[in-house]
Amino acid sequence: MALAVPTSLSPSKVASFRDCALAFRFSAIDRLPEPPSVPAAKGTTVHRALELLHCLPADERTPDAAQACLAQALDDVLGSEEYAPLALAGEQREAFAAEAADLLRRYFGIEDPRRIEAIGLELKLEAEVGGVVLRGIIDRLELGPDGELIVTDYKTGRVPSERFEHGRLGGVHFYAYLCEAVLGRRPAKIQLLYLAEPVAIVAEPSDQSIRGLEKKVGAIWSAVERACEREDFRPNPGRLCDWCSFQAWCPTFGGDPAQAPGRAQLVGL
Ligand code: SF4
Repeated sequence: MALAVPTSLSPSKVASFRDCALAFRFSAIDRLPEPPSVPAAKGTTVHRALELLHCLPADERTPDAAQACLAQALDDVLGSEEYAPLALAGEQREAFAAEAADLLRRYFGIEDPRRIEAIGLELKLEAEVGGVVLRGIIDRLELGPDGELIVTDYKTGRVPSERFEHGRLGGVHFYAYLCEAVLGRRPAKIQLLYLAEPVAIVAEPSDQSIRGLEKKVGAIWSAVERACEREDFRPNPGRLCDWCSFQAWCPTFGGDPAQAPGRAQLVGL
C-alpha cells in the first residue's frame, strides 16, 4: 500500500528529506510527535523577542528595549502549549534566559535595528509550483535604502561548515522564490544572521538561483512521491542522529519503524 504524499513542502521539510528520508517519513508523513527541545525553545524565544523589537518605533529599538522584549518573549514561549512541557524553572530558566539575552546582545553586533524598515515580520507565504504547495515563514521582509526587498532569516545555532552553507542558503532562496511568486517581486538580497558568532551570510537571488531552486524542489518532490509509492524511506545515519527523536524506531539503533506509535495501526500490525 503506497503512503500518502505530503500536501506541501517547506524549507525544513526539504532539508529533512535530504538529511534522512526515514526521519522525514516519521515527521512529515507519519506525523509522530516530537518532544519539545530546549534549543528549539531558545530559537523561538529569540525570534519572538526580535519580532517584538521590530514592532517598536525605529528610534526605540535599543539594546535595553531588546532585553525588555525578551522578558515578554520568555513568557510567551515558555508558557505556550508547545514548550510549557519543558517546565523550565529556577536556575534552569535563568540559564536559558541568560543565553537568549546574550544572543540578543550579539545581534546588535550585526546590524542597527533602528535603520531597518520591516514591512513584514513572521510572514507566512505559500505558492503552488507544478502541483506542489511551497510554504514558508519569512522572519523579516524589509525595504532596503533604494526601496529593494530584503529577506532576513535569524539563526541561533552555529554557522554551518562550508559544505553545509550552500544547503542553508538554499533555504533562504526558497523564501526568495516564495516572495517573488506571491508578491511579484524578487528580493534583491537574502541574508542569514547568525547571532551567536555574530555574522551575516548574504546572497543575491538571480535567474540562475531561482531556476536552481525550481529544479531542486521538483527533484525532491519526485523523490518523495517515489519513496511514498514504494514505501521506501531509508535511514541515513549521521551527526543529526544525536538529536533525532526517532532513534527508538530507527533500524540504525536496533529499532523497528513498524513499531512506532501510530505506525503499527497504519501498517495493520
Ligand atoms: S536516528 Fe538517524 S538514521 Fe535514524 S531516523 Fe533519525 S536521523 Fe535518520
